[in-house]
Amino acid sequence: MSAEELRRIPIIDGHTDYLLSLTHTGRSFLEESTIGHVDLPRARKGNIGAMISAVFLPSELLPTHALIETLRAVDLLKRTVVASDGQMELIRDYDQLVSCLDRGVFGAIMHFEGAEAIDPEFVVLRLAYELGLRSLGLVWSRPTIFAEGVGPENHGHGLTGLGRELVAQCNNMGILIDVSHLNEPGFWDVIAESTKPIVASHSNARAVCDHERNLTDRQIKELAKNGGLMGINYAVGFLVEGARSGSEVPLSVLVDHIDHIVNLVGIEHVALGSDYDGAGVPDALKDAAHDWAIVAELARRGYDDDAIAKICRDNWLRVLKEVWA
Ligand SMILES: [Zn+2]
Repeated sequence: MSAEELRRIPIIDGHTDYLLSLTHTGRSFLEESTIGHVDLPRARKGNIGAMISAVFLPSELLPTHALIETLRAVDLLKRTVVASDGQMELIRDYDQLVSCLDRGVFGAIMHFEGAEAIDPEFVVLRLAYELGLRSLGLVWSRPTIFAEGVGPENHGHGLTGLGRELVAQCNNMGILIDVSHLNEPGFWDVIAESTKPIVASHSNARAVCDHERNLTDRQIKELAKNGGLMGINYAVGFLVEGARSGSEVPLSVLVDHIDHIVNLVGIEHVALGSDYDGAGVPDALKDAAHDWAIVAELARRGYDDDAIAKICRDNWLRVLKEVWA
């Protein structure tokens, strides 16, 4: 493939927080902005074909406002899709995702980053599925009735009984389970319980950057055995230990994480999960319009066309096909 052809491979980004940025700033997803990292014009410039789009609840809204704030974000996403007049679709199944990538229509995949809105009887989970929910993090970095996240309130407990039930419900309904933010005992419980591949949608390699949000080699090997994947997170502090600004982190470090994972478990289990609009990213990326820089760096480091396609798109397609079937 020529550079031009490589550039035409649409990227699937496994984790973005643009809904939060839209809510906080009032900007429109459909108009190009200099605020935050993502809007539709910038996603197009970066050749991003689809994004897992997170509904995130700031802690001050919990627990009282969890459900209404979740619905507010879902409503915002749905209204944005309608207003896009066909430029954007809410993805409900695998065939629609592939079709969107082929037609150049931006695909939004609905994700809940944490299960605070979900009740013990799974009423909300079933209704959220009807609304388009296709991916769920059992926790953000704080405990729920299902599990504990990494962070100050991590007491080292694994999944609760309800947490195990939630995994089974997601497996049955065809909702992707995301273990980014989950504490390590919870990770091992999900691995043991899930009958479908799981993902760490926005986590990096602990061996390259020692941060609790990153996965150990043992976890990465198990994730690969499970058939899942990890999406490389562009957040500076997860790429380089202690980094606080984009100027401290060269783009090559992002590929160092990819190299480490590929050497450990092969090319099938690493993909992209930017954390755009949720974290500071390397200056070389700046925002979603600059994703091409990652492709260029992969090519410069010797990744062939097939490997680049897997990292940018095909590994996500494989996992979503299996989970959503
Ligand atoms: Zn996150």
